[in-house]
Amino acid sequence: MSVSQLARSIKESPTLKLNETAARLRDKGEPVIHLGGGEPKSKAPIDAVVNCATQLNTGDVKYAPADGLVSLKKAIIRYMEDHYHKVVAPENVVVSSGAKQSIMVLLYAILEPKDEVIFPAPYWVSYPEMVKLAGGVPVVVTAEDGTFQPTVEEMVEVVGPYTKAIILNSPNNPCGVMYTRDFIAGMVELCEKKNLYLIMDDLYNRLVFEGKIPPNSYDFARDHTDHSKLAVVQGVSKMYAMTGFRIGWAVVNRELAEAMTNIQSHQTSGPATPSQWAAVGALNGVQSGVESLRLTLENNRNIMVERLRAFDGVQITKPDGTFYCFPDFSAYQKDSQKLAEFLLEKVRVVTVPGKEFGMDGHLRLSFCGTIKDVTEGVERIQWALDPNAPNELYLGERKLVRDWM
Ligand code: PMP
Repeated sequence: MSVSQLARSIKESPTLKLNETAARLRDKGEPVIHLGGGEPKSKAPIDAVVNCATQLNTGDVKYAPADGLVSLKKAIIRYMEDHYHKVVAPENVVVSSGAKQSIMVLLYAILEPKDEVIFPAPYWVSYPEMVKLAGGVPVVVTAEDGTFQPTVEEMVEVVGPYTKAIILNSPNNPCGVMYTRDFIAGMVELCEKKNLYLIMDDLYNRLVFEGKIPPNSYDFARDHTDHSKLAVVQGVSKMYAMTGFRIGWAVVNRELAEAMTNIQSHQTSGPATPSQWAAVGALNGVQSGVESLRLTLENNRNIMVERLRAFDGVQITKPDGTFYCFPDFSAYQKDSQKLAEFLLEKVRVVTVPGKEFGMDGHLRLSFCGTIKDVTEGVERIQWALDPNAPNELYLGERKLVRDWM
């Protein structure tokens, strides 16, 4: 079989692959702990389920406009007013099949061949592949000081004649860090000055801890016209635990929205109508689920960070939000792929290698599971790596004896 050069240049999604591996091992009865997950355990909001089910019961499920149902756009416009204090028109909103498709279609709509798209490391695994799919060139900026946030100057340094856009994800998958107000302000200013698109992937910005407030990129914008190149991407996947519904959206200038809609109309004809009904229900319904998810995650984060801090040699930056942390395990193993494989093989803990996010030596650990997953998962990792740990460990009924140190 021969596939295109483009297809050959695209890697499979490592996180989706890990889900499959974990499911396969679990099916075989293996006591797997999945710290590689990217979705909250909670159920979809009841308002989402009811709104979807009520309309589904009519049996009338037809094509919707390619850029989203009018009722969903109305709900999104209200969301933008409530959470960004930004008044937008229906013509500025494009609903897609997940924030993943929002970013993908946006990149298709703006990139010329070889245009560059800049983003900081660590980055969400899909950014480089998406940029390549759209014909562009990913440009990664890694902070010199070893933190997870480059300086404005470090970002400015890589802007060149081919730069078309900057993507920021804050709080960030995989490290949970929320970029500072100064950094966001600097990026808005840079993009306006250089006429670049600034794509704010805000998917996790309702899941922020300790009362911290995510900087609102619109606050720093000077251009409030319909030519602004500031784009905000959001979706129901994380804040409402609705990953399977596949609904995300982008808020962009009208010209870009039209281009994105045209592209999407030939790709999927728009997101599935029942999923859009569910998203309308979630956005217009009772919002207490978001806060209870946020509180659960904050508690899980505290437990995970506390356990990791008690782990000799592991460096951990406390996440400001999301449900991921990104400890540095390089004191034990610099090759994160090898380390993740070792942990899966020896103690059946699924983690995601930092290499996938542009930072080797780290592992992404999710704390979106149960407290038991978090505590037992870290305990198993510590047992596998720490030479001072006792020689034996029980995984349920199974006794493990460490024979590798
Ligand atoms: N952006 C980031 C940073 C993500 O972590 C994800 C999901 N893992 C997405 C976008 C895409 O989310 P979805 O397509 O489920 O809306």
